[in-house]
Amino acid sequence: RRGAATTMTTAFEKRDAQIWLKLAVISFLAVAASIALGAYALSHVTVGSRTSIVICLLAGSVPVTVLLLARSIACTLRALTGEARNAFPAELADALEMVDAEQDVHEVVARAMQCIAADLPMEMLVADSSRAHLERACVHPVAGSPGCTVESPYGCAAVRRGAPVAFADSEALNACPRLRGRPEGPVCAVCVPVSFMGRSLGVVHAARPLSQPIAAQEAARLTTLGMQAGSRIGIVRAFRRTQTEASTDALTGLANRRMLDARLHDLTKSPQRYAFVLADLDHFKSLNDNHGHEAGDRALRVFGEVLQRCLRDTDLAARCGGEEFAFVIPEADAARAAEVVERVRAELAQSLLRANVPHYTASFGIADTDMTRDPAHLQRVADDALYRAKEQGRNRACLGDPQRVAPTVPRRATEHNAKIDLRMLAA
Ligand code: GH3
Ligand code: MG
Ligand code: MG
Repeated sequence: RRGAATTMTTAFEKRDAQIWLKLAVISFLAVAASIALGAYALSHVTVGSRTSIVICLLAGSVPVTVLLLARSIACTLRALTGEARNAFPAELADALEMVDAEQDVHEVVARAMQCIAADLPMEMLVADSSRAHLERACVHPVAGSPGCTVESPYGCAAVRRGAPVAFADSEALNACPRLRGRPEGPVCAVCVPVSFMGRSLGVVHAARPLSQPIAAQEAARLTTLGMQAGSRIGIVRAFRRTQTEASTDALTGLANRRMLDARLHDLTKSPQRYAFVLADLDHFKSLNDNHGHEAGDRALRVFGEVLQRCLRDTDLAARCGGEEFAFVIPEADAARAAEVVERVRAELAQSLLRANVPHYTASFGIADTDMTRDPAHLQRVADDALYRAKEQGRNRACLGDPQRVAPTVPRRATEHNAKIDLRMLAA
């Protein structure tokens, strides 16, 4: 993006140079024409009238040169102001494109407010995820907030109209009622909706006393700011939603298999120890058969909530599929994981008393990195322990035994185990 900014500056300088070159050529031609005419006059007319002809020519060429100079200077100034006006949207787009988090978008918007005007109070109010409440996301870093009291997006005139609104005088009959009674007295204001694909996300407000009207260029830039902020916030939110959906189980809100694998992969790369637990709900098919699939789904959700309540933020609980769950407890061994499992079992029993869900239990298999550091082997050790918990009557936890499960053999070791017999190949 820095490249784009440089390109813009280069274009600006090129245009400037072209205008000054034109100016120099015009001046040179005017002077050359004057000299040529003067020389012609000197050689063809009598001495007495020569002086007056030269004076006439000089007098004639000076205003022409001045006029041409003035025209060129005016063109230059027009070009410079035009470039400056166009620079704001491009620079704002560059700045917004470089940020990926909504908080960072707010910071860019605050900085852009300062570029629009140093002394115009401004704010951006953004709706929360329910789109019911507006929160002040950022204000002008120096001039502060105009302090609008609107609470919901549809309480704002600009959001309702879906277009920017300018109020020349807060005392006018058709002014927004929220502009009246401000401590600074009557104000003028501009309000720009912040939206993404027709969905309202918030609003940008600017207001100041009537004695300092908001200039047309300031209003135009506010409109640009509202539009671009809306696009970026919408994109950032959509991207975050996609990422969350890709790593979350829709029914329970826990991590999904993909997220679990990614966490195990990260932990394997670090020297950190961790415990790994597999859980499987007991006789879940009967629960579904006897109480219906809906009740089964509710039971799965309850188990997800129990795991979230019993685990820390640094742990990870995942639904691996069906009625199978897994959790990872960093900085823990199997003994510590067994304590967590007992907490989960107790909490599940309590939750089922409160919830509108048929009673059920779960079985657990526990492994840790003291048993093996190979994540595939670790999962098979936990799976084997879970199998034993089922065999021993369910509703219990078993510790993994790495001796019972053959370690994962790297493929290359088996593939190249035998010596290649070149005579056989030749035959
Ligand atoms: P065990 O104690 O040996 O684990 O027996 P089980 O019945 O729990 O195991 P089984 O593998 O025979 O059955 C698992 C059942 O889980 C089958 C399926 O109906 C149910 N199930 C899997 N996914 C879902 C789901 O998303 N919602 C509901 N309601 N049920 C599900
Ligand atoms: Mg199962
Ligand atoms: Mg089961």
